[in-house]
Amino acid sequence: MIDEFRDPILVVVAHPDDIEAHCAGTVARLVERGQTVTYVLVTSGNRGTHDPAVSAAAIATRREAEQRAAARVVGVERVRFLRYDDSDLLFHQARLREDLTALIRAERPRTIITHDPYPGNGSRDACAIYPDHTTLGLMTFQAAYLCGPGPLFYPEQMRQGLAPHRVEMLYLIMSDRPDVFIDVAPVWERRMAALRQHRSQGRDRPELEGFFRGIAGDLGERAGCQLAEGFRRLAPT
Ligand SMILES: [Zn+2]
Repeated sequence: MIDEFRDPILVVVAHPDDIEAHCAGTVARLVERGQTVTYVLVTSGNRGTHDPAVSAAAIATRREAEQRAAARVVGVERVRFLRYDDSDLLFHQARLREDLTALIRAERPRTIITHDPYPGNGSRDACAIYPDHTTLGLMTFQAAYLCGPGPLFYPEQMRQGLAPHRVEMLYLIMSDRPDVFIDVAPVWERRMAALRQHRSQGRDRPELEGFFRGIAGDLGERAGCQLAEGFRRLAPT
């Protein structure tokens, strides 16, 4: 299964900690295999605080540092931040699709890991109706399979030297219909260490170990291993 993730691989998510909560074990295994993985954070989670004394800029700076630290734990060296405002992606779909198309044409990934665009069933690993996740999944799907390969989409990008590019496969996190399972037991400690970097979001609380182990155990049961992460594979049509 893991050898189907062909590199270069982009992981495109809405918020710092989305990767660590859902797929950092898979990333750790891909990096171990020598594959090139780049993280793309569309927001820096700049509204992720309950403290009225903290500014959006301050929380974004802190969360970007946490995300870079989490990437280092699993061996990912490149982290890009697009710095959209947290929770506003639904209102910026046109610009987001254009930016993602330019990103795909520049990075030329064969595989993208991103959010499932369909609201899940609210189960523990599935995205409930949270517009940042579903919007980003939908815009990434369009940029990867529709706009990226089409020369009539954003032709000014072509004039800037960005040639059309088609992504080969999307793997969707936070899906209630996962059909690809990756055994993450061998890298579990590293996966949890990456998650714990997100201290501003309380992700270093010890009780979270059991919560995430429960999710990975349920997915592992479906996969025939101890601990797994789940993805829905979405091929181009
Ligand atoms: Zn998120």
